[in-house]
Amino acid sequence: MALEERLQELILRSYDNPYADKLCKCGKGFCLVSCRYDGCFRYPISCESCYVKEHYRNPFHWALVWLPDKAIWVQRDFSQLCGGSAIQLEHHDGLPCSGTKNDTGFIITHTNGVHDTRVRFCGCLDAPDHIEQLMNASLFPATTLDHKSAFTHAVLKQFHMHNLQSKCGAYDYIYSLRRLTDNVTTVKVPVSHFQLVYTILTVFRTHTKHF
Ligand SMILES: [Zn+2]
Ligand SMILES: [Zn+2]
Ligand SMILES: [Zn+2]
Repeated sequence: MALEERLQELILRSYDNPYADKLCKCGKGFCLVSCRYDGCFRYPISCESCYVKEHYRNPFHWALVWLPDKAIWVQRDFSQLCGGSAIQLEHHDGLPCSGTKNDTGFIITHTNGVHDTRVRFCGCLDAPDHIEQLMNASLFPATTLDHKSAFTHAVLKQFHMHNLQSKCGAYDYIYSLRRLTDNVTTVKVPVSHFQLVYTILTVFRTHTKHF
């Protein structure tokens, strides 16, 4: 077989799930969830519950969920698994805060796309305010009040480098991120205002120029 055909065959293999009817290592669910190519290195296909447990430190990886009746992978955000998972701030052990049960819908833009996700701010008595909780998690709030969206420090740094080196503008950069999120129904991906990205980038650059 020619090398090109062999490579194509190997690529096509990743569209299948040969473990769909196998039990996960926890023994409680089937192997139906994987991590997208730009996430974990060789993530072993697991059940939803194990995926969530393994990803509390990597909540911006895209989950791929296998639909057995359609035999396809569909992309899901971390928050769409296990009936609704939230990114817990402040609690480094990944356990849910006992001070509150409230999750907030949140748009977080990262280097691999735009996540329509859920965040749980810490509600413990000694908890810092929301801006500090976001910044402690390397999330740059998009607004000063009523926090509903943020950019990861990683995406701001990456845009800064693209902008400096290839003169890529905020408009093109944000649209690339929306395509990375979903290249088929891109119009459904939440949009961040380009001017907002510029404003945030300028503030971020000023404060991090000595890093
Ligand atoms: Zn499992
Ligand atoms: Zn992962
Ligand atoms: Zn707490």
